[in-house]
Amino acid sequence: MKIPEHDPRVARNLEEVAPGIRRLRMPLEASIDHSNVYLLRDGTGWCVFDTGADSNAARNIWSSALSGPLMEGVTRIIISHHHCDHLGLAAWLQEITGAPVIVRPEELAIARTIRLSDPSDEGAAREFLRRNGMQAEDVDATVEIMKGFWACAIPQETREPEHGQRMAIGRYTFEVLVTGGHSIAQVALYEPSCGIFLSGDQMLERITSNIGLWVYGDTAPLANFFKSLDEIESREIRLVLPGHHGCYTTDGRLPGKLRAYHRKRLTVFRERLKGEMTAFELAIEVFGRFPDINNRILALVETLAHMQWLQGNGSVVRRDGEHVSWYQRVAP
Ligand SMILES: [Zn+2]
Repeated sequence: MKIPEHDPRVARNLEEVAPGIRRLRMPLEASIDHSNVYLLRDGTGWCVFDTGADSNAARNIWSSALSGPLMEGVTRIIISHHHCDHLGLAAWLQEITGAPVIVRPEELAIARTIRLSDPSDEGAAREFLRRNGMQAEDVDATVEIMKGFWACAIPQETREPEHGQRMAIGRYTFEVLVTGGHSIAQVALYEPSCGIFLSGDQMLERITSNIGLWVYGDTAPLANFFKSLDEIESREIRLVLPGHHGCYTTDGRLPGKLRAYHRKRLTVFRERLKGEMTAFELAIEVFGRFPDINNRILALVETLAHMQWLQGNGSVVRRDGEHVSWYQRVAP
């Protein structure tokens, strides 16, 4: 269904979550049903933080917002990371608004790779998934998702945000934090005087961020996530504006809780590792077999990230066969 211009539902969907900051909920056809886009008052216009996944419904919401409540125009588009629910409409918005896109080059490089338009990228992805125990039909389904739902149009002539850079947006001066773990170089914005934190997917409300080891991207995701929690913990964050679910106030204990959660997961992964198992077998053992392929992929890469950590501290070893790799616990 096409949403007409000036649709009042779009205006109602623009909720003020902090002075001069509005949240727009964008539809998402995935296991999470919405992603959050933030609009920050920026002089006479609006700075956009993340764009939502590309779909007709999302484009209609943007069109309606830009011809109504956001009609003063877009000043700049900041992208937290390359996942399709954040980068998805950046190129399209850039084209229709003429606003510059600010995004880390590492994130764009991965966005180009995961489209698998280069046969060697597809070959590497297939080999990686097979090696880690995925069955052929799941490998095919994953490749299809990567080429389809996950593939984003790439914005042109982008600008690079730097870690530690101060970015004045309207009444606020944000500090740019570039963090790893969920994605290789995710950009988050921290405002020290108000304690506002636009976290992207680094700190969510109801769920923990997926920390996954892939064939591309962050080569030490769990270590980098722990490092990012140290960075976040040293800031006085009071209000988190995340990429999904609700905005929430926090007393600064969340990074500690996330650290404890992953430490506990490390113990669980190690305990459930019986004999020699592929990462996919272990993922099913720990998470159960998810009915949808998206979650099966996330479970696999999250398992791999934890296996990498356990290999690093010597409590698990990996044996690489010609086509498959197996993990085994080291006694005791
Ligand atoms: Zn993400």
